[in-house]
Amino acid sequence: MRSRSIRVKLTILNFIIMGLFLSAFSYLLYFTLSNTLRQELDQKLRSIAEAITTSPLRLPVSSLHKSRNIDEMLDYVMGMRTYGKFIQIIDRSGTVGERTKNLETHKMPVNKEALLKASKGIATYNTIQFVSEKYPVRVITYPITKFNSLTRKNIVTNIVQVGSSLENIEDTLERFLLILLLLVPFALLIISFSGWFMASWALKPVASITKSARKITAENLKERIKDTGADDEIGRLTETINDMISRLEVSFNQLVQFSADVSHELRTPLTILKGGIDVALRQRRSPEEYEEILLSNIEEVNRMQRIVEDLLMLARADMGESCIKKERCDLNNILSDLKQQADILALEKNISVALDVKSVIILMADELRIRQLFLNIVSNAVKYSNQDGNVQIVAYDEDGFAYVSIKDDGIGIDTEDIPHLFNRFFRVDKVRTGDEGGSGLGLSICKWIAKEHGGDILVKSELGAGSTFTVKLAC
Ligand code: ADP
Repeated sequence: MRSRSIRVKLTILNFIIMGLFLSAFSYLLYFTLSNTLRQELDQKLRSIAEAITTSPLRLPVSSLHKSRNIDEMLDYVMGMRTYGKFIQIIDRSGTVGERTKNLETHKMPVNKEALLKASKGIATYNTIQFVSEKYPVRVITYPITKFNSLTRKNIVTNIVQVGSSLENIEDTLERFLLILLLLVPFALLIISFSGWFMASWALKPVASITKSARKITAENLKERIKDTGADDEIGRLTETINDMISRLEVSFNQLVQFSADVSHELRTPLTILKGGIDVALRQRRSPEEYEEILLSNIEEVNRMQRIVEDLLMLARADMGESCIKKERCDLNNILSDLKQQADILALEKNISVALDVKSVIILMADELRIRQLFLNIVSNAVKYSNQDGNVQIVAYDEDGFAYVSIKDDGIGIDTEDIPHLFNRFFRVDKVRTGDEGGSGLGLSICKWIAKEHGGDILVKSELGAGSTFTVKLAC
């Protein structure tokens, strides 16, 4: 439906633009032709008038040779050129001396202004309407001068008027206009049709893309729109849509995986909880036994609560609802508290924890979140360290950033797994981490906290040799 409407729009636009262009072009042609024809006629009239000024007709009106007819004389002097022309010789007062036969019945009126100008030696053109003539007549009023040797100036002796009917010009223009009026709509019709076909041809692949795109749903995100392979707009559109579908497929798969992970993570504590309750209900028990069962159950409830809270926090972060409240805080304080917590965590595996802070570092940060971030990384370092291992915490500041690196010599991470570390629910090896492992949400939250503080987390690790997590925070 949409492609059809674009086709109609394009055709209408093409029609309007070409219509305007052809109209302007026709007007220009008509105007140029009309001007050229009139200029040519004016030139012709002037050349006849000039020729007459050198003929016997230039003599004063009173002394003109009456015996010979002016038509014969003109015929004799100029031949064909004067046929059909209205010619009269007048003096400066406007009295007509000689005139061609065609002016005998109807006099050619003398324009006063033209007469005045001609008396001063200036030639003028006028278009006048004759009683006898259907078409207007173009007239040149031209002075006939003679050189006065006393004053050494040209003086006007007579005035010649040469007129010609505009019939031919008007006829030509009329015919030309008729041709234009027939040709322009015809050309417009052809242009509109070709525009319609071109738009249809250009939009045909769009229709096929729409058809293929409609078939793609959440169930068959593996499908792609057939690529024509052409390096044109349609080819690029197909490529862009296919890329978009690929991204959608990745997001959709992640979402499915995420839902599966959430269910799985919640199912384990729920199963343990249910198992515990089932066992408790099988027989009557002493208050001490009930207390023991309830205490073990509360652990699983706490675990579920932590997962749900973490997920809620990440979901809020995804929606852009940041709950970060930044204030001035001392990183040295935070890290010395962290060392104490790490020492307690490390006791069980006899891990030694070292802290080295190179300078006094003050941050604008959400202290609680920053503490949460470091504790998570340090507890991972302890969790994934071997018995009698070492954990080193080094802090320094550089170029407006604080860097805290937490290094352990534990089990390390495979290079292939490093890019996925910050994905939600990612755990390198669920079997390997076993009971030790958390939900796999910790590092996602750490990354989010670091980003909220204008920083990031960088990881270097070697399988079997240990890992270094470097936290970068804007000061
Ligand atoms: P978890 O709560 O499972 O520790 P995290 O998001 O904190 O989740 O960590 C994701 C995974 O990254 C862990 O399951 C673990 O496999 C791996 N990991 C994190 N820190 C370390 C470390 N210091 N040494 C080795 N593996 C680590």
